[in-house]
Amino acid sequence: MKIRKNDTVLVVAGKDKGKKGKVRFVYPEDERLIVDGINFIKRHTRAQGTVRQAGIIEMEAPIHVSNVKLLCSKCNHPTCVGFRFLADGKKVRVCRSCGEVID
Ligand SMILES: [Zn+2]
Repeated sequence: MKIRKNDTVLVVAGKDKGKKGKVRFVYPEDERLIVDGINFIKRHTRAQGTVRQAGIIEMEAPIHVSNVKLLCSKCNHPTCVGFRFLADGKKVRVCRSCGEVID
């Protein structure tokens, strides 16, 4: 996965198009992510003892990684992520706009 937890991403598709948020969870097997404040869904819940209140709660639903772009922390542009190998053989992510290493 090119996007990781704590990355800032820009939503490029769907109802939250144009919004930015921080990645809170990543589900690599589904290629989905939970982004702070993005893709809220309403859930109708029933009370479960004293733990949960009945009613409608709003929560973030995972969105597919293809619906977001990584925002480069260096040049602040939504970017495609490239990979580069450092001299020590370590694989790092690079910004295709400014060429900076993101990791
Ligand atoms: Zn950049």
